[in-house]
Amino acid sequence: MFHTGLRSGTAVQAADESAPDSELYFQRCRWCHTTTFQRLLCPTCGSTDLAPELSGGEGVISVRRGVAAADNDLWPVHMTEGFVVRCRVDGPPHAVRPGVRVKVSGAAASGRRPVVRLCEEVPLDGWY
Ligand SMILES: [Zn+2]
Repeated sequence: MFHTGLRSGTAVQAADESAPDSELYFQRCRWCHTTTFQRLLCPTCGSTDLAPELSGGEGVISVRRGVAAADNDLWPVHMTEGFVVRCRVDGPPHAVRPGVRVKVSGAAASGRRPVVRLCEEVPLDGWY
């Protein structure tokens, strides 16, 4: 009647892995439709009327300059929706450079940076 040993513990872990933890929300100004990330004001028109939207989570690493050693894995990522967010890039350092496509693998919890991984490393059959 009762199973011992392998139980639901493994199932819970698997569910964790596929949980929608990688949802990244950004903001779109209701007035000028500028997209931005974690701002109080629209950078274009100064409006505070920013509506949250769910990002597709894909972007391209942008150029950076003047990075402290502690922030070595932090890169500005230009997302498909047009906003730029500094992310921790999860990948081999030699492969992480401007122009590389990335996808969000961990969303920004409070006080944390979003985490992205290299699209090239992910064996996807196609786009959705
Ligand atoms: Zn605006």
